This record gives sequence, structure tokens and C-alpha cells, in this order.
Amino acid sequence: MKLSYKIMTLFILLSATCFFSCQSSGQKTHKTQTKEKKFETKNPYYSRTDTSKLNVPKSTWKKILPPKVYHIAFERGTERPFKNQYWDYKGKGVYYCAVCGNKLFSATAKFASTCGWPSFFEPSRKDAVIYQEDHQLDMNRIEVRCARCDAHLGHVFRDGPPPTGLRYCMNSLVLDFVPKNAIATIK
Ligand code: FE
Repeated sequence: MKLSYKIMTLFILLSATCFFSCQSSGQKTHKTQTKEKKFETKNPYYSRTDTSKLNVPKSTWKKILPPKVYHIAFERGTERPFKNQYWDYKGKGVYYCAVCGNKLFSATAKFASTCGWPSFFEPSRKDAVIYQEDHQLDMNRIEVRCARCDAHLGHVFRDGPPPTGLRYCMNSLVLDFVPKNAIATIK
């Protein structure tokens, strides 16, 4: 009698543990799916395959983008040197525009710069970016923008390495890196 009581208690405990564990795992999966779904619908303009020019008002971008990304992209913000995600990152792959998904730079064009920001000697194609004179802060610089969404990315300087002699000095937050082995799955 005592033994069957113990077995019964053990069975109840095991069932309860399994029930709560399954509930918890189910909730986690649901939350993850909800989060991904939210992200997908959050920026309807993001596409790594659609190259058509966007004409989205800043007021709309402000509602869609994380505040720090919006600040750099549409208020010409600048990240702190050496305190950003990709300044010394060496992964192989492609850097897309974090605002719209436009293909911007290949990791093969990235070089070790001492400036503290991710630096490239050329964009992935000539028309991936556009240029504008920038005289802010009493400096004469060339601003680099995404050709698809017009987001501010950074500046280009003439002190880069061969073969172009250019240094595209970018903000990490407006770059979306995709590793080489994941690019084949992009549709
Ligand atoms: Fe863009």
C-alpha cells in the first residue's frame, strides 16, 4: 500500500513537471513567433531584392525605425568611434542598408581602418550609394547616402587604400550584415 502511494505521488509530480514545462516552452515559441511577425510587418519597405527607389516621408520612417537608426539615417547622426558594432568586424558576407535592405558593401571591400568606424574602399556597385556635399561643422565633406531610401550612411574620404584610394566611413547602425553562408537563402 505504501509503495503504490509512493508510485502514485511520483507519477503526479512527473505529470505536473511535464505540464508546466510544456506550457512554458509553448509560450516561448509563441512569443518568438509574435516578435518575428512584428519585425516583418514593422518595416514594409525593407527588401534585399527590390531595388526600386523609395520615396517614404521622414515622418513615416520615424514610426518604423528604431530611434537610434532613425537618428543616424535621417538626422545625420554619428556613432561613437570604436564603440559601434562593425568597426573591426572581419566576417565574410554583405552589408545591406539597415533601413531599406539595399545591397551596399561587400566584406571583401572592407579594410582595417584606424578611424573607429567600418570602412570600405568601394560600394558593392556604383549606383548603390549617392553623394552630397556636406558643409556641416565648418568642414567640407562628401556625405554618402543609400541610393534606394536616401538614408545617411556616413562620409567618403580620399585617404583610403588601393585600388580606389577611397575610404567609405560608415555608421554600423545603418548597416545590416548578412554572413556569406546565409546569402544563398535570401529570396
Ligand atoms: Fe537604404
